[in-house]
Amino acid sequence: MSTLARSATEATHEVRNQPPPLTGRDLFADNAPLTEALDRQAGTTEWRERLHAAGRFWGGEPIVWGALANEHPPVLHTHDRFGHRRDEVEFHPAWHELMAAGVRDQLHALPWTETARPGAHAARAALYQCAVQAEAGFGCPLTMTFAAVPVLRAQPELADEWVPRLTRAAYDPELKARDEKPSALCGMAMTEKQGGSDVRANTTAATPLDGAGEYELTGHKWFCSAPMCDVFLVLAQTAEGLSCFALPRVLPDGTRNAGFQIQRLKDKLGNRSNASSEIELRGAYARMVGDPGRGVATIIQMVNHTRLDCVIGAAGGMRAAVAQATWHAAHRSAFGARLADQPAMANVLADLAIEAEAATLTAMRLARAYDEAPDDREAEVFKRLATAVAKYHVCKRVPGHAAEALECLGGNGYVEASGMPRLYREAPLGSIWEGSGNVMALDVLRALRATRAALDVFLAEADQAAGADARLDAHLARLRADLADPAELEHRARRVVEGLALALQASLLVRHAPPAVADAFCAARLGHPGLAYGTLPAGSDTGAIVARHTPPV
Ligand SMILES: Cc1cc2nc3c(=O)[nH]c(=O)nc-3n(C[C@H](O)[C@H](O)[C@H](O)COP(=O)(O)OP(=O)(O)OC[C@H]3O[C@@H](n4cnc5c(N)ncnc54)[C@H](O)[C@@H]3O)c2cc1C
Repeated sequence: MSTLARSATEATHEVRNQPPPLTGRDLFADNAPLTEALDRQAGTTEWRERLHAAGRFWGGEPIVWGALANEHPPVLHTHDRFGHRRDEVEFHPAWHELMAAGVRDQLHALPWTETARPGAHAARAALYQCAVQAEAGFGCPLTMTFAAVPVLRAQPELADEWVPRLTRAAYDPELKARDEKPSALCGMAMTEKQGGSDVRANTTAATPLDGAGEYELTGHKWFCSAPMCDVFLVLAQTAEGLSCFALPRVLPDGTRNAGFQIQRLKDKLGNRSNASSEIELRGAYARMVGDPGRGVATIIQMVNHTRLDCVIGAAGGMRAAVAQATWHAAHRSAFGARLADQPAMANVLADLAIEAEAATLTAMRLARAYDEAPDDREAEVFKRLATAVAKYHVCKRVPGHAAEALECLGGNGYVEASGMPRLYREAPLGSIWEGSGNVMALDVLRALRATRAALDVFLAEADQAAGADARLDAHLARLRADLADPAELEHRARRVVEGLALALQASLLVRHAPPAVADAFCAARLGHPGLAYGTLPAGSDTGAIVARHTPPV
């Protein structure tokens, strides 16, 4: 062989100093804050085994499905080849694998089916945080199905027809008549072109058909995710005002609800595995849910359960980011030392880690409130306010967190195959849908005004750590003074809500996290925060924090 031919076949270099892939993990076992929080918030150790099984499952093949479902996004077929309307969305098989697995794990239903065991909301929150680390997009229809059940339950005849199907642990993606389909999924359609947050501006009109709760809906919806769901909760105007309706995709006789037409799918920043559509309603058949004119009051249960999942999903996303960042830094060296051992990097990783731990503890505490609320008035009051506070703050923290975690991987983090760009693109979504930032901040003020005891109940939770950390005590005193001042409260809404969220998070960490985590959080978030991640003050035990959050070899 000539010298030229030999040099073309020989490697020019050895691949080294690259981390091994982070696959084949038990995502639950790897996540110490989550494993600790599960027992505490569920009030039992009964769920542990199930969570470990789920952690192993979601840490394996679903990661590949997640990537595939994003590389091959859904395709809309408005018409068949003969010109008949079809209004169907075709998904890659990986999407269906994810959906089937999510339903099998009962991400869409666990608290509604596991009523005999305590802590089903907490267990579901932990399951969900494992699953979204493989892929977040498929959480959308599962969350909406989960969240629709409390609304439908309030309407006995609709509950009889739909709840057994919506809570079954089986996935059938075909559009079929309800009676031919033992399982079903539910979506929601509120947002219109002229108003999303302000749903009272909805123009979709509902015309009564027979006086027995049956209507025809005419109008449009500007965002309607997961349009292949079997039924949708839809808002539309009646003579009495905005009302809530259940709209099936297929009518009881097996024919399509032809007035439900999908116009196009959104070309979205992220969340690309999931289909989000624009729909026209041309006399679509629907049945009223709740009382006429009480649409917002009826659908609010769905909205609040969806907001809970925004918090849970945000915590899962942050955990995925921290796992990748700490793993990379543990296996990559620069300038003669492991990245994780270099003080400036340890500071960044620890700062990201305390944010993720705070989010995890918040999501799990909130989930417990959902478990307790049906039998406990105080838990109900806490749940209402804490959902809005946590939805605002935890979701708002995700984009910056994802960006910084991505940067920990250097150039590799900017490359699609690392999975970090997908996390980054998904990151802003939790804060936009189901109440964008300002809307959530204003909702907190509304909750405070609506229930006099709300603030006391919320602060009583934070006060459980009173006396344990002077910075938290000072923060709580400042917060109380801020809240007592009525001047320009709407202008100050975000700051006040941030104060409430930080009080809850710091209190949870002081009570339940290792001292290194709680100390760094109180120092950095309640003291003099730096503008970027990686600005924990000197003296923070970054080594202990990073070790806690790094997936073990
Ligand atoms: C990927 C995706 C999927 C979605 N899926 C669905 C779905 O399945 N079903 C559905 O019904 N909707 C869905 N939505 C819509 C989503 O819920 C809305 O986009 C969201 O509620 C905001 O409404 P909007 O877009 O009309 O914005 P607007 O209501 O116009 O708000 C614009 C901005 O103004 C702010 N704002 C609004 N009111 C005030 C105020 N009083 N004071 C100060 N600031 C204010 C908001 O915080 C926001 O930042 C989806 C959205 C996305 C991005």
